[in-house]
Amino acid sequence: MHVGVPKEIKVHEYRVGLTPPSVAELTAAGHTVTVETGAGGGIDFTDRDYVAAGATIVPTAAAVFAAADMIVKVKEPQLHECAMLRPGQVLFTYLHLAADKPQAEALMKSGAICIAYETVTERAGGLPLLRPMSEIAGRMSVQVGAHYLEKAQGGRGILLGGVPGVAPGRVAILGGGVSGVNAAQMAVGMRADVTIYDISTLRLAEIDDMFEGRVKTQFSSKAAIAAAIARAHVVIGAVLIPGAAAPKLVTRDMLKLMKRGSVLVDIAIDQGGCFETSRATTHEDPVYVVDGIIHYCVANMPGAVARTSTFALNNATLPFVLRLANLGADAALASDPHLAMGLNVSGGHIRHAAVAEALGLPH
Ligand code: NAD
Repeated sequence: MHVGVPKEIKVHEYRVGLTPPSVAELTAAGHTVTVETGAGGGIDFTDRDYVAAGATIVPTAAAVFAAADMIVKVKEPQLHECAMLRPGQVLFTYLHLAADKPQAEALMKSGAICIAYETVTERAGGLPLLRPMSEIAGRMSVQVGAHYLEKAQGGRGILLGGVPGVAPGRVAILGGGVSGVNAAQMAVGMRADVTIYDISTLRLAEIDDMFEGRVKTQFSSKAAIAAAIARAHVVIGAVLIPGAAAPKLVTRDMLKLMKRGSVLVDIAIDQGGCFETSRATTHEDPVYVVDGIIHYCVANMPGAVARTSTFALNNATLPFVLRLANLGADAALASDPHLAMGLNVSGGHIRHAAVAEALGLPH
């Protein structure tokens, strides 16, 4: 199959659909790969790296779309990219169509086979192509929290790990899923005092086993959260109720319970955030202060570590890219029900029930 990789065009998006090592896997399997010049430049993959991996470099996205049978990207296509797709061509990328009707309609019009990373499933029930981003956001949340606790950043002036003779900072993690556990791993590594709150007692038991006493666990009741935020120096919001807006676990009124200069990191901001005072921010202007509490609410945290994120994403996507390239889209989708869950649009129709429902379109 002929696989194409255009340069990402959303503002400050430095990730790229395929790394040079992923391209080398495809070319070794007998596939042809075309890459837009500069596609990996933002994270220091040069055109020469891609050529060494067996790719051909072309000057424009239009040339990539014209040549390839399958386009591999990171972010959802912009409308003028949708217009370059053709019937039967495969698009494999994050789509997040449920909240984006213009894009959905443009993809339907294109006639392309559009497979969304975020709805591909796995046997254990998780979302394998979203997991790497939650791992990254979780791990980043602690370094971000530690940074903004510094006095010069407006923080309380606390070193998360403490020092001999001075107690460590306290980290409260609301939600013990993928991002929450990754946050805990970093916080424990920094020697902070860490507690995870979750509503799943099964999950709390798993976490208790996993950390062998180095992390405390507590059931996430209203009273427990009120007590948690009063004690904590960093509070990390990492909850998820699949398909729903994040529950508001900390109200504006509760901020007065907190210590001045403590930090809220709302990872769940992409689902509306789990603190009432959260509003989405960007890497250019990541924090703001409400009632003396620093809020960090960047909706695209992995973008800050685009090189790590690209490798992590490729580790998860490459097996599916190879499967699609080796078998062709029809056979690959027919033979793998988890990949088939990724199918969002084909033949001019929405093919994913939840996406169709969210958009109010038939499927
Ligand atoms: P996950 O499903 O692995 O974990 C969510 C956890 O929250 C589950 O263990 C669940 O039991 C728990 N939970 C639900 N309601 C709760 C409550 N009231 N109190 C305490 N715990 C509760 O989810 P995840 O992959 O860790 O993702 C968490 C959030 O982070 C999602 O909204 C995801 O979209 C978001 N995310 C954001 C970024 C970013 O850049 N901001 C990056 C990746 C993921």
